[in-house]
Amino acid sequence: MHAYRMTAAGTARMVELPAPRPGPGQVLLQVRAAGICHSDLHVLDAPAAMWEPPFTLGHEICGTVTATGDGADPELVGRQVVVHAPYGCGECSRCRAGATNDCDRRRSLPAGLGLGVDGGMADEIVVDAARLVGADGLDPAEAAALTDAGLTSYRAVTGSAAHLAEPGAVAVVIGVGGLGHMAIGILRARTGAHVVAVDTREEALELARACGAQTACRPDEAAAAVASASEGRGADVVLDFVAAQATLDGAGPLLRIAGELVLVGGAGGVLAVRKPGPLPSGASLRLPFWGSYDELVETVALARQGGIRARTTTYPLSEVTRALEDLRAGRVLGRAVLVP
Ligand code: NAD
Ligand code: ZN
Ligand code: ZN
Repeated sequence: MHAYRMTAAGTARMVELPAPRPGPGQVLLQVRAAGICHSDLHVLDAPAAMWEPPFTLGHEICGTVTATGDGADPELVGRQVVVHAPYGCGECSRCRAGATNDCDRRRSLPAGLGLGVDGGMADEIVVDAARLVGADGLDPAEAAALTDAGLTSYRAVTGSAAHLAEPGAVAVVIGVGGLGHMAIGILRARTGAHVVAVDTREEALELARACGAQTACRPDEAAAAVASASEGRGADVVLDFVAAQATLDGAGPLLRIAGELVLVGGAGGVLAVRKPGPLPSGASLRLPFWGSYDELVETVALARQGGIRARTTTYPLSEVTRALEDLRAGRVLGRAVLVP
């Protein structure tokens, strides 16, 4: 089978591998869709010591079960599923509660399938049956995008629920890409907050409006937009899906006193936290990572109810290099997803 593998630091290519076989408690999936995340670019750009290749990339996976190993329910065969891909030790209290994303051994373990261990940019993949969430009837590309772009945004938004429940709350979404456009949908479905979306690309601002953002503007217009939406108070929550130096420098001044800054992006900017400093007094800071199994179930349920929908741009698996180039160049709208 074909698999797109990180073969050395900074290098990934399509290789031919033997078909995998499910072990005990595992299933074999024929991959229907594998999302491409900006994190895949960060992985390929990272210094040599950060990752241990070789492994197959792809941490957003939708597939059809084609075989089951010993102990996995044979009735799963034929079902379309998505995969909860964060990797954990399986033994700590977080893992036992399905929150492998917050595993106590996170520092010493691979981050997830496709992020240190084999992922879904392949014809087939073997995964533990316990990772599966049913996705029958959903568009495979949209379903794949729910597992990280959707799930990470779901946790990022719901973790700030108390701030977002303030009367007249304003939420700022910085970066309307794969994750940010899902976050806008989740904010609109789950909170009453006025959403101010910020991006440097005009087409991303149009997508933000289509996803329900009441205001969509360029970074240099954000301060005025937030002041106007909040009657001068500032944003209750700023969600930074970029976290480059420019967005971090701009985020603090947008926040309301005792507001919350949520850093999701990994673009390498540095936030200087001190008192007094760039964040207003009383502010809190969160750095959520991905989401739990139960949160993925809730994210998929929200999509089924029509509360959110991933916008996708699909590419054949054989054109993964072109898709990655498009993502890097800012030519992807919504989520880029590889399909067979
Ligand atoms: P993406 O490339 O699809 O979207 C990024 C968006 O940000 C684009 O629309 C781009 O135009 C916009 N942008 C870039 N610079 C900007 C600026 N200065 N101001 C405003 N907008 C700007 O990326 P994605 O796949 O959505 O991922 C976003 C970030 O989140 C990445 O850094 C990724 O690694 C990270 N991420 C974190 C987690 C987590 O668990 N914390 C999970 C997934 C992804
Ligand atoms: Zn990701
Ligand atoms: Zn654990």
